[in-house]
Amino acid sequence: MIAHNLGFPRIGAGRELKFALERYWRGETDLNRLEAVGRDLRERHWRQQQAAGLDWVPVGDFSFYDQVLDHSAMFGVVPERFGWEGGQVGIDLYFRMARGRAPTGAPAAACEMTKWFDTNYHYLVPEVVKGQRFALSSHRLFDQVAEAKALGMPFKPVLIGPLTWLWLAKGKGEPFDRLTLLNGLLKVYGEVLERLAEAGAEWVQMDEPVLVQDLPTAWKQAFESAYHRFQSVPVKILLTTYFGALDENLSLAAGLPTAGLHVDLVRAPHQLPAVLDRLPPYKVLSLGMVDGRNVWRSDLDAALEKLTLAIDRMGSERVWVAPSCSLLHVPVDLEPEQDLDEELRGWLAFATQKLHEVDLLKRALEEGAEVVEDELTRSRRAIESRRHSRRIHRPEVAKRLAAVSEQMLRRHSPYAERRPLQRARLKLPRFPTTTIGSFPQTPAIRKARRDRREGAIDETTYVAFMRAEIARVVQRQEAYGLDMLVHGEPERNDMVEYFGEQLEGFAFTRFGWVQSYGSRCVKPPIIYGDVSRPAPMTVDYITYTQSLTDRPVKGMLTGPVTLLNWSYVRDDQPRSVICMQIALALRDEVLDLEAAGIKAIQIDEAALREGLPLRLSDWQRYLEWTVRAFRLASSGVRDETQIHTHMCYSEFNDIIDAIAEMDADVITIETSRSQMELLDAFVDFEYPNEIGPGVYDIHSPNIPTVEEMVRLMKLAAQRIPPDRLWVNPDCGLKTRSWNEVEPTLRNMVKAAQVLRNEF
Ligand code: GLN
Ligand code: ZN
Repeated sequence: MIAHNLGFPRIGAGRELKFALERYWRGETDLNRLEAVGRDLRERHWRQQQAAGLDWVPVGDFSFYDQVLDHSAMFGVVPERFGWEGGQVGIDLYFRMARGRAPTGAPAAACEMTKWFDTNYHYLVPEVVKGQRFALSSHRLFDQVAEAKALGMPFKPVLIGPLTWLWLAKGKGEPFDRLTLLNGLLKVYGEVLERLAEAGAEWVQMDEPVLVQDLPTAWKQAFESAYHRFQSVPVKILLTTYFGALDENLSLAAGLPTAGLHVDLVRAPHQLPAVLDRLPPYKVLSLGMVDGRNVWRSDLDAALEKLTLAIDRMGSERVWVAPSCSLLHVPVDLEPEQDLDEELRGWLAFATQKLHEVDLLKRALEEGAEVVEDELTRSRRAIESRRHSRRIHRPEVAKRLAAVSEQMLRRHSPYAERRPLQRARLKLPRFPTTTIGSFPQTPAIRKARRDRREGAIDETTYVAFMRAEIARVVQRQEAYGLDMLVHGEPERNDMVEYFGEQLEGFAFTRFGWVQSYGSRCVKPPIIYGDVSRPAPMTVDYITYTQSLTDRPVKGMLTGPVTLLNWSYVRDDQPRSVICMQIALALRDEVLDLEAAGIKAIQIDEAALREGLPLRLSDWQRYLEWTVRAFRLASSGVRDETQIHTHMCYSEFNDIIDAIAEMDADVITIETSRSQMELLDAFVDFEYPNEIGPGVYDIHSPNIPTVEEMVRLMKLAAQRIPPDRLWVNPDCGLKTRSWNEVEPTLRNMVKAAQVLRNEF
């Protein structure tokens, strides 16, 4: 039986890659040094995986920025603006594509970045044009294969498959069908496969996660023709699918002329019987049994049962065992997390521990369960303890949730009746101006938070600092002439962590970093148990802010769906249940804010859209429970209390009904970069409540003029009645400097005045 891995986190247990990259970008080290760090990390990770007992270690999962960009570079797909004239795609060109600039070469607009399927990892979108040419333009993969070989590693090169790469690519310029490029692309893939075969690769892992999505017929047919072409190359292809079920693409995937198929049995356990029925007898079946997307220890008994079922049908030579997907999406190692208590630690497995689990499964099946009995017992105990722990299962939370009534999901009156009450109370001008919540996080603010964390200052000193900061931003906002104020969020380092730390049921790691994009890493919280709110979380700072001004101050909360989607979530309960628990906790906070006299409360749902399931048929269900959760959090207030929400994107066309169902009185969204898209969403859907289309792109250092902002608002006013429009930036201002924020907000207030005069 073969045990293997689909990919290992490349960032390094100590985020070595991040620091090496940033030093290189700052010009503090040279390329040799950077390459050496890359080589060391690869070697360390291969050795670690080999020591864990794997029969094949992946090569090609390492990347200096992003694996999709690596492929674009390998195929010579470089957008024209980078002035590339062929030859090898060098590292600085590669970094310029990723981030717009590099130690050498002229800056140009970076390639667009977007989320890799339903993960929080971002890849760089390949840009292709009509008639795009492809030419093998990078030997990095082959160099890495040579490295692995020199180290005596049993290596299995990893490629993103041609259909997935092409599916993720975006056509630029004159419109055309991307499939017209397939032929040229396959020639390069053919060359790559030939080279890998020459280098001694026996198997090549070909990742085609698009197969778990809805595919147009033409793309399904393209799969057939593509994989038939690879038959002539003397390597065995393991067609790899993950993040979901093959379902209606199963016959297609099983029937392609590849030597093996990998399926994800963690995300889609139900597909095993059908896969066993459909797989031709000559093929290898790789079963993804260990969760590559979450941090929990596996239920090894359940996994063994499935594997045994497969072996009974197929024989042990044809069944392989692996994690469900690349381990890129989990932290590297649990070992250093000594601050987590024993019990909680016992429930967890990070990448290193997951490889060990894969090996245990293999040994249990090959050598007999007795050989690994101790380990199996330990795993059983962890599962048992999770099942019964009083820290996880808190009857009072379940009881409250069971008592949630439909009435609690509805505001007392419809928007049309709430509106006059809110107007009378808030006394805002037309085109009211506001911001999204955060103001620049200055070094002094960061230092105060760090000092508090490290115990260098006491709570009283810390709170006094934060209050002074809040007082300063209130003064500034009044001076600029903003209508609805915020407290600026100086006390928050992160919109999820800040709330997670105050809620029961959340835990935090110290080193649990995962790559988000390039050198950027995030440390998602772990929701391990029933969620509740022991005490108010934001009421002190918000009421303090309101005490400083006559203008209304917005309470500022992160919404239930966003807290959920940006965390590792327990897998013993449906996500919808956990989301409702979080929503109940937030509902209490909302009501406390209201009781403290706060007239408007914003509940951010930055991550609602990105949590959409991969298959269209699952969207409706997801939107239903997410909207219910938002409504549970927000609907307890009186009619005259104004509920805001904020979302950092403008692609609403396909979910606009659900957004309207959330029934927030005001929604602020991102639009300044994509003005046309906003208009699109409102062509055949009339958004019923108030809306603030962002007029300031907070991702850019540019300061928009009054005229630009007026122009954008006028575009919006063509679709939305002017008396329902707000004027605000795209998102929070925490990453900008006051030098940019001050003139921008002054311009924004002027723009609102122009609009009030004109309409
Ligand atoms: N209120 C948050 C802020 O202003 C919202 C951030 C976000 O939407 N990502 O920073
Ligand atoms: Zn935002």
